[in-house]
Amino acid sequence: MSKWGDRLKKVEQLAQSFQKNPLTTPYKPRLWPCQPSSVWKFFPRQCMAISFAQSCKEAVHVFALEKEKEAVGQRIYLVTSYSELWFYYRTYTQSLMHCYEVIPEGAVCKLYLDLEFHKPSNNGSDGKTMVSLLIQYVCDKLLEVYGIECSAKNVLNLDSSTEEKFSRHLIFCLQQAAFKDNIHVGRFIHAILQPVLNKPKNGSHLDNGVETRTQAASPEMKRRKEEGRDLSFLQVKNKDGRDSLFVDLGVYTKNRNFRLYKSSKAGKNAAFTVAEDNQCIAKPEKGTSLEESIFLASLVCNVSFTGQRILTWDVPESSEPKISPSKCQQGSGSDSGALSGFLSSPHQEVDNFVLTVVRKDGIQGSLRRWNYFAAEQLLVYDIAKYRWCENVGRFHKSNNIMIVVDLKEEVWYQKCHDPDCRNFRSSSYPLPQEICISYILTLDEEDQVYLMDDAGNIESSQKHKPMGPQSTVHTEEEKSDVWGDERDDRDYLESLDDFEQKSEEISDQLLLSCMADFDSQ
Ligand SMILES: [Zn+2]
Repeated sequence: MSKWGDRLKKVEQLAQSFQKNPLTTPYKPRLWPCQPSSVWKFFPRQCMAISFAQSCKEAVHVFALEKEKEAVGQRIYLVTSYSELWFYYRTYTQSLMHCYEVIPEGAVCKLYLDLEFHKPSNNGSDGKTMVSLLIQYVCDKLLEVYGIECSAKNVLNLDSSTEEKFSRHLIFCLQQAAFKDNIHVGRFIHAILQPVLNKPKNGSHLDNGVETRTQAASPEMKRRKEEGRDLSFLQVKNKDGRDSLFVDLGVYTKNRNFRLYKSSKAGKNAAFTVAEDNQCIAKPEKGTSLEESIFLASLVCNVSFTGQRILTWDVPESSEPKISPSKCQQGSGSDSGALSGFLSSPHQEVDNFVLTVVRKDGIQGSLRRWNYFAAEQLLVYDIAKYRWCENVGRFHKSNNIMIVVDLKEEVWYQKCHDPDCRNFRSSSYPLPQEICISYILTLDEEDQVYLMDDAGNIESSQKHKPMGPQSTVHTEEEKSDVWGDERDDRDYLESLDDFEQKSEEISDQLLLSCMADFDSQ
């Protein structure tokens, strides 16, 4: 008994000291001490979810969920971190079983492919061989165009085939290289598939882009092109017996939803699993399971800024569709003149701010290009003309600088292309208040249209809003159901007392594992 009393005293003392020295930020629950604080919010519309995710200080992402029994194609949108999604994804396999990664507009991403054909219409087609030939072809092209060496070992191969349909996702996990965004991935794929696209009909709108590339290509590349490669294995028949392509070219659009590892389409049973012929071995990092590391590798936008080479496939400006800010974006007045020859990033107000940073001391710096790393919420600008580097304390003569804007920390800092400054990172400076987005969008819990309960059911929160005294009582009842009544509490304390007197201290390890067991029930 005295032991329990001592412990109580200690806790009270601690509580007092915490009250005297409050933490500067309000407490937010976390899954584990080392994890970012918890964000788990549902939205009825994708653009609301994207705006919210951009306003978060935490590294969060948007996922789309399909609900069983809901109208086909109707989705709700979840904002959370990769680790938290994985945690609940394993636990609530029912409500989270139809889950898609939203590939944000303009975000750096991996090369990905969506492959499928209707089995009965393609008797004798050997899917596995087709996948293997295609991987080899894309790898050859990556080497030819970008000088990147890769093989099937870099390609995560996921299978969601059924009796009816052969269906695969390929995700290229290249070492230290990724595409500027999924539009550039699409252009690259379009371009390398031109030989087979041109066969049935001419006049793809990408012809111009391909011409430009070919003219600039090395003699070696021309020679190979002339040799020609038989891509006829990519031609398949669709359900109606019409000519079709093994590679789905429609998956490279803005804010594309790409189905996750272990998810199936609503109403279907075929979830993505690692394919039999997959050769990519995801190396688990410390503290992650093999399955989680496959999950992380499968996320198209899970690309780190550090040491990354950004691949692009540009088309002549005339045919480039101009990116207009999406309707949901918190727009500030656009300064289009200042950004001539430069397409604005998803955060135009940040572009304008960075311009003010690189236009001083009589030098008109400009933004050469930007890259958006959604996984880390970083906007990285390559600066032209303005070369002041904090590392050397002067202007560089020829090497250019970078300005990195950390959207979740709401700070910016400078990095440098000069070889001597390779690992340099300047001090962090706060972004001006007017461009920090977090204060604009502060959503209350009550604003959420969907909520997930302890059993993992995702329901419209409107249904549960108390309508009068009766329903309030009902809520009270529910509460006691979940938490147990006072009698339970007394029993619990008694048995704890009992246990403490008879035995040694309960280890934190044991407590944590009990909690985990309880939570996963
Ligand atoms: Zn420098």
